[in-house]
This record gives sequence, structure tokens and C-alpha cells, in this order.
Amino acid sequence: MTNRISGTTSLIGLLGNPVKHSKSPLIQNTALEALGLNHVYMAFEVEDGKLKESLEALKVLGAVGGNITMPFKTKIIEYLDDISSEARIIGSINTIKIHENGRITGYNTDGIGFVKSLEENKVEFKGKKIVIAGAGGAAKAIATQLAFDGVGEVVIFNRTLEKAKKIIDVINKSVSSCKATAKVMDETDLVEEIKDAAVLVNCTSIGMKATIGQAIISSSAQLPKDVFVADIIYDPEQTKLLKIAEEAGCRYMNGLMMLIWQGAIAFNVWTDKDMPVDLIKSKCF
Ligand code: NAP
Repeated sequence: MTNRISGTTSLIGLLGNPVKHSKSPLIQNTALEALGLNHVYMAFEVEDGKLKESLEALKVLGAVGGNITMPFKTKIIEYLDDISSEARIIGSINTIKIHENGRITGYNTDGIGFVKSLEENKVEFKGKKIVIAGAGGAAKAIATQLAFDGVGEVVIFNRTLEKAKKIIDVINKSVSSCKATAKVMDETDLVEEIKDAAVLVNCTSIGMKATIGQAIISSSAQLPKDVFVADIIYDPEQTKLLKIAEEAGCRYMNGLMMLIWQGAIAFNVWTDKDMPVDLIKSKCF
């Protein structure tokens, strides 16, 4: 990879903390190299209180853009010149473009990445009901994007009800074609809501390494066979929820393609080129 770096190579930077575990440098540099583009993607661990200076540094050093990750996805908004309409409503930014005149535009590609991965699986969601578990940053981007993209009804379950209520208020105010409801996380109620839903999405962190044997529902008997089950966790590859979905005979997907697609959309923002997603999937995972 070093052979492609020259005196004219420009930077794309990831700002966040922690970032050392991030797959984005691998994904983005593999794509940049495959297309012979003269940029290099690097991750920078930014201390609390140093976000503004870090963004300024990217600009001064001629970077073409970057990704913003935890804990700065909301904080970054105050330093941007423009924000895409979706990102403004979602209230969080994961991608920035630094224009030649120095202006910086913010985008959120998480929700679009999720929708792309649903489409890839040929899941019909327009006009349909979607049940989402979780109300963190990822759930907010996914629920709002699904509403923009034509879902008829969204029901959000969360342990902390207030957080789910904030998301549904935004959707009900901004997207008249979608009815959104918030509920406190409760398995019996969740199972009831899934009965006439097209898609169940797990946006909680339940099922990741620390809670590997847990799932938002406890048995395959509670899942109707025709519901599509999406877990946005990609490590482990098959969470407990996805094992239950398989046992129930449901179609399902993990979060890997969402991860790749959110990066692919960001890649397009910086380079105007399509990321070779199949190559990324085979070379990076
Ligand atoms: P976040 O903002 O921290 O939200 C975490 C969510 O999980 C909250 O709704 C939280 O509920 C819930 N939760 C955590 N532990 C719980 C428990 N023991 N019982 C019930 N609910 C619990 O995180 P995030 O950024 O939205 O990410 C959520 C998950 O998505 C993570 O696993 C992350 O790795 C994954 N993710 C994947 C992608 C991708 O590209 N595939 C992108 C982003 C995130 P409370 O609100 O009650 O705390």
C-alpha cells in the first residue's frame, strides 16, 4: 500500500475515541487502492475537548473528508457549515466532506447503509410495519431513514423509554406517511408487535461479546416465519437472535453489509466513485 502514497496523496481521516478497533481503515484503503485513487484513510484517536482542533487540522492539511464516530457524532454538528437534510433530522453525523473552498458538509450514512442491505436481501418494506429494538445512535439513524424511505409504521422498543420517545417524536413530526410508536422493552409485548411486522431489527448491543448468549427474544416459537430478522451486530457473525431466527425458518442478516454500505456511501461522498463492495466483502472479512 505504501507504494501508492506520493507527495500528492490526500488524507481522509476518522475522528473518534476509541478508534483502534475500527475496520474502516482496512475497508477504505482496500477500496482506494483497488480503484487507484490518490487518497489515504487514517484513524485518529481524539481526546475529549479536541474535536474542533482535530477538524481544523484535517482542513488545514488539505484532507478531502472523513468519518466521525463515537463520542462525537452529535458534537461535530456545531462545527459544520452544511448538513444534509436527513442528517439534520437524525441529529447525528458519521461522514464529512471538506470542499475545495474549505466548507465542510456533514452526512449520516448509517441509516442508508442499513436500507441498502435490506434492499440487497430483496426485503419489501415500503408501507410495511418494522419493529426495532433499541433506541441508541444506530436505531435513530435506521428508524428515521426507514421512515424517509417509505415504511408505513415503526414500533421502537427500548429499556429506557424516553430515548425511544425522542426518536418517534422526530419521525411523527417529519414524516407524515409513517406512524411511529415507542414502547418499553418487554418480551411479551415485543412478540405481539412482531406478529404483523415485515422486519424485526435488533439495534441493541445485546448479543455482542459481553452478552453473547442473550437475545431480545428467547425462543424460535415466538418468531413468525415470514418476518425478516436483521441484527446490526456483525461480531459475532451469528448472534443468538440470528440462531433463533434460523431455527424459526426466518430469513435473516447480520450487520456486516450495513457496515460495508455505510462506508461505501461515504466513499462515494469523498471520491464520486462506487466502492467495489464485493471485493471488500471478500478481501476484508
Ligand atoms: P448505543 O447508542 O450505545 O445504544 C445501545 C442500545 O442498546 C440502547 O438502546 C440501549 O438501551 C440498548 N442496550 C444496551 N444494553 C442493554 C441491555 N442489557 N438490555 C436492554 N437494552 C440494552 O449504541 P449504538 O451506536 O446505537 O449501537 C448499537 C449496536 O449496533 C452495537 O452493537 C453496535 O456495535 C451496533 N452497530 C452496528 C453498525 C453496523 O454498521 N453494522 C453501526 C452502528 C452500530 P438504553 O437506551 O436503555 O441504554
